Amino acid sequence: METVLKSSLLLCALALAGTSALAADRFDVAVTVDDLPSHGSKPADITRAEIARSHIATFRAHGVPEAWGFINAVALDKEADSGSALDVWRKAGYPLGNHGYTHMGLSQAASLEAWEEDVRKNEPVLEKYMAGKDWHVLRYPFLDAGGKGARHDDALAWLTARGYRVADVTLGFDDWAYTETYARCVAKGDKAAIEGMKASYYRRVDQQLARTKAMSQRVYGRMIPQVLLTHMGAWSAATLPEVMKRMDAAGAHYVTLDQVQADAAYRMPSPRAGDGAMIERRAQDAGIDLAGLPAVEPVGNLDALCR
Ligand SMILES: [Zn+2]
Repeated sequence: METVLKSSLLLCALALAGTSALAADRFDVAVTVDDLPSHGSKPADITRAEIARSHIATFRAHGVPEAWGFINAVALDKEADSGSALDVWRKAGYPLGNHGYTHMGLSQAASLEAWEEDVRKNEPVLEKYMAGKDWHVLRYPFLDAGGKGARHDDALAWLTARGYRVADVTLGFDDWAYTETYARCVAKGDKAAIEGMKASYYRRVDQQLARTKAMSQRVYGRMIPQVLLTHMGAWSAATLPEVMKRMDAAGAHYVTLDQVQADAAYRMPSPRAGDGAMIERRAQDAGIDLAGLPAVEPVGNLDALCR
């Protein structure tokens, strides 16, 4: 009896220790979702609206107060029913921002003017869905802010003059890389392949969280508030419940983009402002060596699966 009591006391103590370790590890995260209303191929048995609804249900279950959705309005012309995903998003009270009409990368664009036109072409749709609200937030397609130089500086000056601010990214799990394979595997009914992909993906989520924490400590001396990037696709919808469970266990606490961007880390000047992921960019700018951080295993050869 006494042994049982002692061991249950020990279990309580361990549980409490676990809780306080979690509190110490707590960090703020703003959630952002790219490629609304339609990221990549999707399985036939789910609609774009259902994919959006699934995201919202998961975010709500984890106390996400706001999630910016960044749109490529070209999808509305290509997929007749995809606009319903934007309705679903706005009905949930989540805001929409600009991700370029066709998802044009700034470095690859034929000219700066062509790229600006791609950003502008999205605006009537934002005006419509965000009526009366401020939608002037830009997520660079491919996180391509033009590198270093005139095109970068001119684009940023143009965006700023137009009233935009840039939504930087610090955290992501390469969910986009799984999208096409997942749609193929669902069509084939290859459950084993999907389970294998999920197991590897969730392992990589944990590894990425560990790496990001260590990297933030090295670059800033603290865990800065994070901006998560995920994509409006079927793979992401299917895996987000488990991903967010793992984020919660790692200490994630969800806040708005404004709250995160109020942190000094988001106002540090950079000649490549907006380019790539922010913590890695800051490390490069400041000449901080990222060697020896916890590694993330590669995505693997998804292209060969479910052919
Ligand atoms: Zn995108």
